[in-house]
Amino acid sequence: MNQDPADKQAQHESFRDHIATVDQKGKRIWIYPKKPKGAFYNARTYFSWFLLALFFTGPFIRIGGQPLLLLNFLERKFVILGVAFWPQDFHLFLLAMITFVIFIVLFTAVFGRVFCGWACPQTVFMEMVFRKIEYLIEGDARQQKKLNAMPMNGEKFFKKLLKHVIFFTIAFLIGNWFMMYILGSEKAIQIISEPPSHHLAGFIAVLAFSGVFYFIFSWFREQACVIVCPYGRFQSVLLDKSSIVVSYDFKRGEKRGKISKKKTPPPDQGDCVDCNQCVEVCPTGIDIRNGTQLECVNCTACMDACNAVMDKIGKPRGLIKYASYNAIASGDHRVFTPRVIIYSIILTALITLLTFLLFTRSPLETTILRAPGTLYTVQDSAHISNIYTVEVVNKTFSPLPVHFKLEGMEGQLQLAGSQMVVPKASIAKSALIVTLNPKNLIPGRNNIEIKVLDDKGREVDAVKTSFLAPENIDELKK
Ligand code: SF4
Ligand code: SF4
Repeated sequence: MNQDPADKQAQHESFRDHIATVDQKGKRIWIYPKKPKGAFYNARTYFSWFLLALFFTGPFIRIGGQPLLLLNFLERKFVILGVAFWPQDFHLFLLAMITFVIFIVLFTAVFGRVFCGWACPQTVFMEMVFRKIEYLIEGDARQQKKLNAMPMNGEKFFKKLLKHVIFFTIAFLIGNWFMMYILGSEKAIQIISEPPSHHLAGFIAVLAFSGVFYFIFSWFREQACVIVCPYGRFQSVLLDKSSIVVSYDFKRGEKRGKISKKKTPPPDQGDCVDCNQCVEVCPTGIDIRNGTQLECVNCTACMDACNAVMDKIGKPRGLIKYASYNAIASGDHRVFTPRVIIYSIILTALITLLTFLLFTRSPLETTILRAPGTLYTVQDSAHISNIYTVEVVNKTFSPLPVHFKLEGMEGQLQLAGSQMVVPKASIAKSALIVTLNPKNLIPGRNNIEIKVLDDKGREVDAVKTSFLAPENIDELKK
């Protein structure tokens, strides 16, 4: 019976109605991807070794005595590439985040999800660590399916137990390292090495992190990329027809069809032999021949699989390759579309602004406020004083002695204690008495400026604050 062309088209497009890992009843379809082999997989393996080495040595790498990366949300202290950010630097942090998002948008518009396939921690740990261990213990896709289908016996129990013990051990290791990036290596090692009862909260946090990682890598897997990752969800707006992604060359591949030595293929048959190898290796269970899909993490496994098939049948490699839709459909290889040019201009402007703000950032942040609940003290007809609280944040990693100087007005400053030394990467508080002559003042609020100097007399900060004078100050001036 001849199928109606509309039905045929609807059937062909049906993959758009559901995701590959969920069946009609909404039940999870477990993916058993075949072990990939090939040049891209080898390159990804070597690159993953570099990334894993970076992840595990990262907490111990110091730049100018500071960690490579520290994201201490608890103490609101962040160090990126050895540069510390404090809550007072929130505007810089926000600008850095916006710059990063624009970079991601630009990068994705040009190169698609290349980050997901090559550098995302989820893919690196899943495909290069956990999946490899699974292949080692349970065998390739077919043996895994067989093992899961068989009733529980000694062999199955042993393999499953071994796999899950190793999985949890690695998840526990990742959990500990994750904590090092939050608390710093010294503090995390102290928590790890001392009995759990001494650091109950830290111990529970590590167990919770480990549990989450174990859950993700042993069970949740590709679902993290498909239904949770916001970056994945945004692909449809980030990509366009000029983006370079893992693509099936439909012009060359279609019309697909099996080949046989006994039969000459029809003249309109393309290079795709419909062997399904590209689908069998896919860790998200999709068929790349249907076009770019939200689930595709650009892992290149289908490229390797198809290249091996092309080698076997004596056809050129690259039926599945890194290419844009436009390059395949019309030979248009342009990547600098108006969209990309606009993103590049915005990104350049943001990077310039961020660099300028970072280099001109004050090493100190000073706050001087009149002490709550105080007014003024008239000492005599020539001296009126106000009391202030002083808070100085030292953003550097060495102690900073500071002095205060009244700017543009005669008067005296008296600091509680002899000298203020702000400890490294810390906050110091003190009290300051400012005494002024009434002849320089007007009734009520007067604006004054106090300069903050380092021990070499260089100005490191300047603060504007107010000085309160009595309403009848004109009488004192007589
Ligand atoms: S591996 Fe290549 S030849 Fe085989 S089905 Fe996929 S695209 Fe076609
Ligand atoms: S379609 Fe290819 S590149 Fe995309 S996830 Fe599947 S195997 Fe990886």
